Amino acid sequence: MSGRIPQEFIEDLLVRVDIVDLIDSHVPLKKAGNSYKARCPFHAEKSPSFSVNRNKQFYHCFGCGAGGNAISFLMAFSHLDFVEAIEDLASFVGIDVPKKAAVYQGQKQDYVALYSILEQVAVFYVEQLRSHAQSEKAIEYLKRRGVSGAVAKDYSLGFAPDEWDALSSRFDKKLLLDAGMLSSTESGKSYDRFRGRLMFPIRDKRKRIVGFGGRVLDDSMPKYLNSPETAVFSKGKELYGLYELLEKESRPKRILIVEGYMDVLALAQFGINYSVAALGTATSKMHLDLLFRFTSELIFCFDGDDAGRKAAWRAVQESLSCLRDGRQVRVMLLPQGQDPDSLIRLEGVQAYEGRVFAAQALSDYFFEHIAESLDLEALEGRSQLLVLAKPDIEKIPAGYFRDMMFVRLKELSGKSDLDVLETPATLVSNKGIASKERLKLTPERVVIALLLQKPELAEIVEELEPKWNELSFLSKGLLLDILGVIERKQIKTTAVLSEEYRGTDNEKDVSWLANLEVMPRENDEFNEGDEFKGALLRVIDQGRRQYNDDLVMRRLEK
Ligand SMILES: [Zn+2]
Repeated sequence: MSGRIPQEFIEDLLVRVDIVDLIDSHVPLKKAGNSYKARCPFHAEKSPSFSVNRNKQFYHCFGCGAGGNAISFLMAFSHLDFVEAIEDLASFVGIDVPKKAAVYQGQKQDYVALYSILEQVAVFYVEQLRSHAQSEKAIEYLKRRGVSGAVAKDYSLGFAPDEWDALSSRFDKKLLLDAGMLSSTESGKSYDRFRGRLMFPIRDKRKRIVGFGGRVLDDSMPKYLNSPETAVFSKGKELYGLYELLEKESRPKRILIVEGYMDVLALAQFGINYSVAALGTATSKMHLDLLFRFTSELIFCFDGDDAGRKAAWRAVQESLSCLRDGRQVRVMLLPQGQDPDSLIRLEGVQAYEGRVFAAQALSDYFFEHIAESLDLEALEGRSQLLVLAKPDIEKIPAGYFRDMMFVRLKELSGKSDLDVLETPATLVSNKGIASKERLKLTPERVVIALLLQKPELAEIVEELEPKWNELSFLSKGLLLDILGVIERKQIKTTAVLSEEYRGTDNEKDVSWLANLEVMPRENDEFNEGDEFKGALLRVIDQGRRQYNDDLVMRRLEK
């Protein structure tokens, strides 16, 4: 729920759109039985396990677990945020997002003005690099670092003159302030934030300039200065060089994460066009999730000094929760005293790429790093290994990779009966549901899952007329809530129903259950109605017994 676009409009939109048409316009679908299939756009695969269901208005990938409604699809496939996805979907259906959402409209206006002023400033800086009398120093610096005119153009490098009002005398002050381009004194006077610096415009993935980085051309400090956080710029979300990288290659085989602006440029100068840099912050989970939308392999490339090693370890820990099967992270620590720029000059492109290909697998790096300070010959060392490694491995999403990390941990620690934490994701398997996992299909889960997948089953609940206030079970609140929503809004599809829970505490559970395979796919004789009714009767039966037990307990306690 956005709070900005009326919820009724979103529901209406989901009813009007046909997810099969929508997805087919991006990924050609083939009809197969009751659903439509394709090779999954979200992970690499040979045979199609991506399926779109017209009745449910839902898509689901049996390979990587991706799934959702039309809005979720656009967010994931076209890399849009929620509001952008709604806008795209509205234009696909051919309707306008309603004007009634006044607040939303107002904010939108500001964004447009902010993007526009930042673009104008970038153009201004580029002109200054070309023509300003002071820009000589910047040109010299670029020449010294071997940056060619072509690379400078690709990355729209610019120059901020060493003046207090180069911008404020030319552009709207209020907008410059909002865009983070001015600094203010305590008395409220404002002046240009970037002065006498080489300027690196930072673009978001949709090409819009959202901020700048600036490097000094003398010995003054700070050496690098970034735009502050603004309405359109968040350092934890943006990566330098990502847009330029995607311009060259929209589905790169791998992406290199380096430390700074000049590293990105130096590598691009040598034809290595697949690197990005975090903007003076640690690599965040948001950064990694963003990058994994475009590639399945990330390589952390950090300096070999203490700071670089620390940054690499932090980045690796941050990445664990993003490591679904099919994604991989590797680590490349440079020799002491080298950065990508100096190293590629020293060794040449081939040797550098050789290092990229030979980068250490995350699993090796992970155990090596933890074991560094431990004596694995001793029991104490091995138990310490468990203490340190287990919580981190548990962050990895369920799948083969996580299992294999646990196997390695068992080998190294010698503890064979490690109990591996079960997470909901463990229950959704690749090919139907394995027998052990079927045990996790409790009647409650089956009832809610089927209800989400086929809202019309709510009729069966009405027929049975359960006495809810004489039943007690764990997910009663959620079940009643879902039934209420279906009834109140006359919901017919999973897509509309699950949309009700976006942004609520129940979002995760609902989305997991909406995708839960209650029966193996191959089973044609599966009758959802019968299965639902059976499970519901069990829930009622167990719920009644629990309620009575509770009553007895309460009486005894009196
Ligand atoms: Zn997939």
